[in-house]
Amino acid sequence: MSTTDDRKTRSCVSCGINIAGTNAAAFKCPDCGAQIYRCAKCRKQSNLYECDDCGFTGP
Ligand SMILES: [Zn+2]
Ligand SMILES: [Zn+2]
Repeated sequence: MSTTDDRKTRSCVSCGINIAGTNAAAFKCPDCGAQIYRCAKCRKQSNLYECDDCGFTGP
């Protein structure tokens, strides 16, 4: 039961919730290829996402 693995925590880029264990969408930034995660709720609402690495925003 280690709690030191914070780097593996995945959060939705749109709303910031922890999406571990949910059926969130994972895809790569079309601009820089960084891994992006978005929760099912934001996907359903078609919220914009913003890449942490390059600032690319898209639907
Ligand atoms: Zn979200
Ligand atoms: Zn990017």
